[in-house]
Amino acid sequence: MKKPKVVVMGSFVVDLTARAPHLPVAGETVKGSSFKLGPGGKGSNQGVAAQRAGAEVTMVTKVGKDTFGELAINNFKSEEMDTTYIFQDEEKETGTALIMVDEVTSENKILVTLGACNHITEENIEMARTHIESADIFLTQLETNIEAIEKAIDIAHKSGTLVVLNPAPVQPISDELLAKVDIITPNEIEAEILTGIKVDTEESRQQVAKYFMDRGIGTVVITLGKNGVYAKNSTTEVYVPSLKVEAVDTTGAGDAFNGGFVTALAEGKDLKEAVCFGNVVGALSVTKMGTAPSMPFRNEIDTYMENILCK
Ligand code: ADP
Repeated sequence: MKKPKVVVMGSFVVDLTARAPHLPVAGETVKGSSFKLGPGGKGSNQGVAAQRAGAEVTMVTKVGKDTFGELAINNFKSEEMDTTYIFQDEEKETGTALIMVDEVTSENKILVTLGACNHITEENIEMARTHIESADIFLTQLETNIEAIEKAIDIAHKSGTLVVLNPAPVQPISDELLAKVDIITPNEIEAEILTGIKVDTEESRQQVAKYFMDRGIGTVVITLGKNGVYAKNSTTEVYVPSLKVEAVDTTGAGDAFNGGFVTALAEGKDLKEAVCFGNVVGALSVTKMGTAPSMPFRNEIDTYMENILCK
């Protein structure tokens, strides 16, 4: 099968993760026990998830002209993603996430500097225009600067490319922007913050869906963590329970779901099948440590899909 074309615009940051017996308080230096460096950022994670799930992904992001910027480009190349629109800022540094983990309690403290990926210019987006216009799906989040998000969504919307917005990290979204989104994919917390409706009953899920559909969004997908996924559009209502897996690290589950979900949709699967596919990608990702490194490959997803009922 020909691979569907997905453009993912979003953040890239290098995750710098140190583990220690306890987290330092202000002014304290703690001897840590391990350190790991790897690619991160919601945009990057979702791009890698979609590419591994079977899409041909063009990544649109921005990094610095520095060592971490090189790391980003090499990482995307090693995933066989299209790196034409990985822009390099002359001045701004590549984004980072400084993550400290208490190895006893698993509590963490995270400091994110978005750096270059928070400075994607309208000219940058303009350069990627034809790719966005000819893609099957355009997927983005809210982690990069909003002007770039608005411009890219506008291009996708006007050209008829399906626009999928994962509203994370959550922030207010104008009705004007929402009206150009075809599918929104909040988790329960994001859904509550955006709509004011607590997502704890079947009825509340329907109310959240109505809230977004009243604002012009065709399909609403709410990820419910270990409880699965709910989705609704004008013709279909779907609830898919999560798969019983041994969860070792749930960070990046939403990114995995989004990457898998858009890939399945771009392949022409219907809403229920695409939700089911995303649910499998999300579940498989939580069985491994890390975010991008834990994204499953298509053969693993297919093997799992063969054993579950998805119709
Ligand atoms: P986020 O990471 O954005 O908070 P969720 O926690 O809602 O997103 O997780 C996204 C999806 O990943 C879920 O809808 C589900 O499909 C899958 N998932 C998350 N946690 C688990 C889990 N413990 N077991 C199985 N699947 C999970």
